[in-house]
Amino acid sequence: MATDILSGATNHFNFKELPNSRIILSEECFIRLSGDINLCAFSGNKELEYGTFLYGKEIEPNIIYFDIPSEFDNYTPSYREFDVNTPEMLAEKEMNVNGNKYDCIAHIHTHPYIGGTCRFFSNQDLRTIKTLQLNHQPNDGRKKFFFGGLLTVSPENVFDNDEISFVFYDDSIDDWYKITNISVFINGQEIPFTKMGNRPTMQLDDRHTRK
Ligand SMILES: [Zn+2]
Repeated sequence: MATDILSGATNHFNFKELPNSRIILSEECFIRLSGDINLCAFSGNKELEYGTFLYGKEIEPNIIYFDIPSEFDNYTPSYREFDVNTPEMLAEKEMNVNGNKYDCIAHIHTHPYIGGTCRFFSNQDLRTIKTLQLNHQPNDGRKKFFFGGLLTVSPENVFDNDEISFVFYDDSIDDWYKITNISVFINGQEIPFTKMGNRPTMQLDDRHTRK
């Protein structure tokens, strides 16, 4: 059925890990994403989705540092989907696609806990990321890299189990990768998120923060 295709999801934790990869978030990015996931968990309507673009740079092969989130958050959160569609956010993204400061852009959004496949990217999410990679490139032949990010809310009454993960669509081989080594750069220190099995949670690993 067409609706199954439209509402389907893909377990991205089965994707291959991008080799030797790591995503490092600035403190500013971490604060924005924590805010988005809290809005998703605790705002009035638990089926609304929130998100942002992150802008960053590949600082070593397959190691991405995301420096800033979108300056804007004036979008209207929507029911079970996320679309960055305000003129300001789109203009900012265009500016960063064509500018030199950033070569990596993440489209990241929340999923509320509604059971089923809510902790995976929807197939529509993956289509959005693939379209960004294929069709939202600079006009002069340079290449920018788009990542999809997902923040998922824990089941109710389960603490410390909000998840964060990233995927990357490699158009040169028409295949997907996941990135599950994720950390935050705070006070001059890189602190990884803890993992439950192969899935990173939004909890910083306190073995690294304890003095
Ligand atoms: Zn989604």
